[in-house]
Amino acid sequence: MLTSKQIRMLQLLDKQVKNCNKCELHSNGTAIPYWTPNSKYVIICEAPGYNEVRKQSPFVGAAGEILTRELEKVNFSSNDFLILNTVQCRPVSGNRNSKPNETQIECCQGHLRRYIKVVNPEKILCLGNYAKYLFTGDLQGILRQRGTFNEYTLEGSDKKYPVLFTIHPAYCIYNSEEGIPMLQNDIEFFKDSEFERQTDWLLSEDDFKL
Ligand code: URA
Repeated sequence: MLTSKQIRMLQLLDKQVKNCNKCELHSNGTAIPYWTPNSKYVIICEAPGYNEVRKQSPFVGAAGEILTRELEKVNFSSNDFLILNTVQCRPVSGNRNSKPNETQIECCQGHLRRYIKVVNPEKILCLGNYAKYLFTGDLQGILRQRGTFNEYTLEGSDKKYPVLFTIHPAYCIYNSEEGIPMLQNDIEFFKDSEFERQTDWLLSEDDFKL
């Protein structure tokens, strides 16, 4: 369970995300990261789309349904997670959902770093190439790099976390025969792998400077 101090900090971070106008994406709408007092792991996805902005929460569309179903198969609940995207606002091309660019991802990294620091997860699950990019600086290769844990530090952070890469659930919409078993296998592996949660974390005022 998160402490009341952690919860107050997450509420503060939600406000910061809601009011953020550091990049041009803010005018397209925002999905506030999802967390509950039970969040002990982190899922990082790509970017919110139309549905996520409408509901102001990440992963509520078709890809989100696939993820929820796969989590529930191994007795995980979304409530066990902090769920956030590489960017918290919706990238668009015309009026269609689009991909974030490197500058926008970099601009949003402070938000990610602060949320992750407050939750202090035992392990992190990255869905797709964009989430992988945060830790590797490489926007390709998810099929090659999925399925094993590595320790990574988020840029600007002083902490290492065990991180597992897997495919983005949207891949399963068009490649279900190949995609579902991969996602299922990786989520099961994520569930079964245990790491020691580091407890030496201290949050300071500086952690909340935008
Ligand atoms: N895909 C993502 O990567 N994130 C969302 O929030 C929704 C769909």
